[in-house]
Amino acid sequence: MNAGRELALSCAGRGWWVHPLLPNSKRPPGNCRRCRPSAAGQRAACGFPEDAGGCGCLSAGRFCHGVRAATREPELIRSWWSGSDFAVGVATGPSRLVVVDLDDHHRQPPDAALLLPGIDLATTPGTGSVRTGVDVLELLCRVRRAESLLHAPPTLTVRTPSGGLHLWYRAESSGRFTQGSSQLGWQVDVRAGWSTAVAPGTVTTGGRYERLGPATEPVRVPRWLALELTRVGLRARDPDAPPPARIRLPRPTVRHQPQDGSAYAAAALRGEVDAVASARAGRNDTINRAGFRLGRLVGAGLLDLDAVHQALTDAAAQAGVDPGEAKAQSTLRRALQAGMRSPRTVPSTGARP
Ligand SMILES: [Zn+2]
Ligand SMILES: [Zn+2]
Repeated sequence: MNAGRELALSCAGRGWWVHPLLPNSKRPPGNCRRCRPSAAGQRAACGFPEDAGGCGCLSAGRFCHGVRAATREPELIRSWWSGSDFAVGVATGPSRLVVVDLDDHHRQPPDAALLLPGIDLATTPGTGSVRTGVDVLELLCRVRRAESLLHAPPTLTVRTPSGGLHLWYRAESSGRFTQGSSQLGWQVDVRAGWSTAVAPGTVTTGGRYERLGPATEPVRVPRWLALELTRVGLRARDPDAPPPARIRLPRPTVRHQPQDGSAYAAAALRGEVDAVASARAGRNDTINRAGFRLGRLVGAGLLDLDAVHQALTDAAAQAGVDPGEAKAQSTLRRALQAGMRSPRTVPSTGARP
């Protein structure tokens, strides 16, 4: 019995695209001679991927070019895995999967400011105890006031031989994502697009990719996490996709919705509202900054002025500012107006609020 072949067939049976990996590494086996670059950094004679038609290997059913060869065809899988003990890689993009890869490299954590790039953790307690990617993701859940993704995860979760965790999610109707390392957080990698995740159940000399917990299938990427992936530039918006639905802001922070909801503007609104609501020292500066940034989106027609004004007033009240306080109100009004005078052009993929 060929364990790799059975695993590959069962992955294909659940709709995942698979390709061979060397049994004890996470790398694909080498290409054929024609598909092999003659030197590092050089293009292969076959011309792939720029000239995909010039490489006959994929159409001939060979597994050159790693993840690009991934297939769901049982015949091909049987032939690739016959007589070899290849491990199984799952091509995330074609399988419509996003795998969040949490490492535990036992490295010294960086400065707290770098744990979650783009998020100010100055007033967040508990950053000093962060040691692993799991801790970083927990921190992100807390900062966003979202339910933990790790306590009794409802989605397929796999422990890796090196002590990391893979959280498997379905990406359908959440847009297309791209792979990244550390954009979302320290020791947090994202496998998506032309990226590979080792199939659950794979055995290497280091150990087994072992499913944890009761969930056997990936669930849809949580909406707030999809927004985070967008924020850090790991989402490619599908030009054919319908406009994103309106985002419900976390209550009771804000009562008002963005009038015109691009996901970007909604994420920016939520981020700024959170920043103001949790501001302690320097509240006036925070209100000023938030008002200016959101004012630019108002100026661009992405947010409604009254809704933003009310949302920030409510958030300031949460931070202890009296809603009738003249100084805060005039700061807010001036910041919004200044922002509206330099409208922000609609950001493309990769932009950050
Ligand atoms: Zn080839
Ligand atoms: Zn080739």
